[in-house]
Amino acid sequence: MATPAADVSAGAESLLPLVERPARYVDGEWGARHRPEASYRTALLYPDTYELGMANQALAILYDRLNAIDGVAAERVFVPWKDMAAEMRASSTPLFTLESMQPVRDCALVGVTLPYELTYTNVLEALDLAGIPLRSADRAEADPLVVGGGPCAFDPEPMAPFFDAILVGEGEEAVVEIVAAHRAAIEARANREETLRRLAGVPGVYVPSLYAEAPDGGMRPLGGGPAVVEKRVLRDLGAFRPPTCPVVPFMDVVHDRATIEILRGCARGCRFCQAGMVYRPVRERRADDIVRDSLAALACGGYEEVSLTSLSSSDHSLIEDVVRRLSRRLEGTDVTVSLPSLRVDAFGLTLARLLKGKRPGLTLAPEAGTQRLRDVINKNVTGEDLLGAVRAAFEAGWRRVKLYFMIGLPTETDEDVAGIGRLVGEVLAAAREATPADQRGSVRVGVSVSTFVPKAHTPFQWDAQLTLPEVLRRQKILRDAMPRKGVELSWHDASASFLEGALARGDRKVADVIERTWRSGAVFDAWTEEFSLDRWLAAFEEEGVDPVVLAGPRDAKAPLPWSHISSGVSPAFLKLERERAERAVATPDCTFEECTGCGVCPSLGVENAIAGGSRG
Ligand code: SF4
Repeated sequence: MATPAADVSAGAESLLPLVERPARYVDGEWGARHRPEASYRTALLYPDTYELGMANQALAILYDRLNAIDGVAAERVFVPWKDMAAEMRASSTPLFTLESMQPVRDCALVGVTLPYELTYTNVLEALDLAGIPLRSADRAEADPLVVGGGPCAFDPEPMAPFFDAILVGEGEEAVVEIVAAHRAAIEARANREETLRRLAGVPGVYVPSLYAEAPDGGMRPLGGGPAVVEKRVLRDLGAFRPPTCPVVPFMDVVHDRATIEILRGCARGCRFCQAGMVYRPVRERRADDIVRDSLAALACGGYEEVSLTSLSSSDHSLIEDVVRRLSRRLEGTDVTVSLPSLRVDAFGLTLARLLKGKRPGLTLAPEAGTQRLRDVINKNVTGEDLLGAVRAAFEAGWRRVKLYFMIGLPTETDEDVAGIGRLVGEVLAAAREATPADQRGSVRVGVSVSTFVPKAHTPFQWDAQLTLPEVLRRQKILRDAMPRKGVELSWHDASASFLEGALARGDRKVADVIERTWRSGAVFDAWTEEFSLDRWLAAFEEEGVDPVVLAGPRDAKAPLPWSHISSGVSPAFLKLERERAERAVATPDCTFEECTGCGVCPSLGVENAIAGGSRG
C-alpha cells in the first residue's frame, strides 16, 4: 500500500509564475489542516477548479470528519486548469495535494466527489495527471484506492470502471467506516482484491468489480457484494455539527461566505427532482444549533454573509425564528443572512421583511408556466402563490426577482410553454404594482430556462428527454411569448443538457465513451467555452453507443442500469407517482400531512425530524 512520499513542492512552485491564478495551487489558507504526523493520508478530489470546489459543502464536511480521526490526514485536490495541466505534463510534475504538496498517487485513498455528469472527464484528467491508472482493473497493489461518492453515485455505472468503490448516500459516518476498513486491511496485509471485498461489507459501499452487466439491462452481483446496495442516511443530523471553521480561500470563489446546512432532505415530492427523492427523509437542525453554528462560522472565517443552506431553506419549521434571532445578534454589523433556496409558497411578508436589504435579488422556482403542468410535476404551488411571494418581496423593498423554469417536462404542450411567458408577464405586473411609482423603472425579472433531464430514482426515470431540434422549436415559442421590457431571459445550453441526459441514465458501456472523449481532449465540459458536443458525439459513434437511445424512453417493466442501487424510495412508489403525473394528481408533502408511502422510513429505519414539532 501507499508509503510516505516525495515532496514535489519545489517543482510545483516553479510552475506557478507560468500559469493563470496560481493561488489555485497553493495552500496555507486560514483553516487549512496540516497533519504531517499522520500515517494514513487521503486526497479529497473535487473534479473542477479550486473556485468551484471550495464552495462545495460535502468536501468541507468530509475534510472536517477525516481530519478529526487519529493518524489520518485529509488533503484537498482540485483539477488544474489547462495551462497548469500542460506545464505539469511538460515537467513531469504529478498531481499533488494542496496541504503537503505531495503526490496524490502516494496517498492511501483518493476520495472523489461526483457532483454532476459534466465533471466526468475531469475525474479522468485528474487521475491521469496523478499517474494513477484510470481503471480499477489496471491498478496495482501500490496504487491508492479510488473511492467515489456524491449525487452521481445513484447511477454509478457510467463511471463505475474508474472506481474501486463508490459510496451511495451520506458520508459523515460512512467515510469513517471506509477508512477504518481500509486501515484494518492494510494492517492485515490484505491484497487489493481482499481489501475491496472488505469494503463491500461496509453498508452503502458499492464495489463495481463485484458486479457485471446482465442481459436484461440491469446489473448482477458476482459474489462478495449485496444484490442491492442501500444508501447511507444519518438518523440524527443534529449529532453531526457542520464545519464551523472551514478553510477560508485566498482568492474569490463561487460562494464566498459562511454556509450552515439547516436541514437535509425534502419531502415536497417534485417528480422531476432527484435530490428530493434520494435524500429523504427530512431532517431539520435545531434552531439553537443553527444560530450557534452560524455565529461560530462567522467568527472563525470573518465572512460578511452566512447562508442557511438546504434543498429548500424556507421550509424549515422555525426559519422565521432563526432568521430573526440571527438578525438581532448581527445588528450593527455588515453581516447579512441569506437563504439560497426559497419555496414560492413558503415565502411570505414576514420572511421578506426579515431578509430585506440582505440580498440583491430574490430567486424563486415555479418550474412550469401552467397549473396543469405544475400539477403533473407535483410542484404544489399556484400562480397566485407566486404572485403573492413577489408582492411580499417588492412591498418589502426588493427590486429584482429571478425565476427558474424548465421546458420539456413530461406531457408538456406548446400551450404550457407559452404559459411561461404569460406567467412572467403577470409577475412583472405584480412586481410593478407593489413598487412605489418613482422606483418602477428599476424593477427587473430574470428568467432562466433549462431543459428537463430525466434522472434515475425519480418518477420520470422512464421518460424521454426532448430531442435537440424540439428544444430549439419550443425555445422559439417561449421567446415569442415572453414580455419584451423588464425581463432578462437566459437559457441553459441545450446541447449540454442533451449530453447530461445521455450520461445521467447511462450504463457501464458509457464508460468507454467517457474515456474516449477525454482522450480526444475533453475536459471542463461544464464550462460553456470548453464544451464540444461534436467531440462527444464522435466518441459515442466510435464506441457504438447511441446517446439518443440513452436519453429516450425506458421500459417500465425491465431492470434499469441503476436498479441495484436503492435510495430507499420504492420502485412501486415511483411508478405510482408516474401514473399520478399522467393524471395531474398531486401527492402531498408528508412533513405537512401524513405518510404517503414512499418507503424510505420503514426500509431504512429513519423518520422525518421536524425541529418545531410540525410544519402544518
Ligand atoms: S416513508 Fe412516509 S414519512 Fe417517510 S419520507 Fe416517505 S412518505 Fe415521508
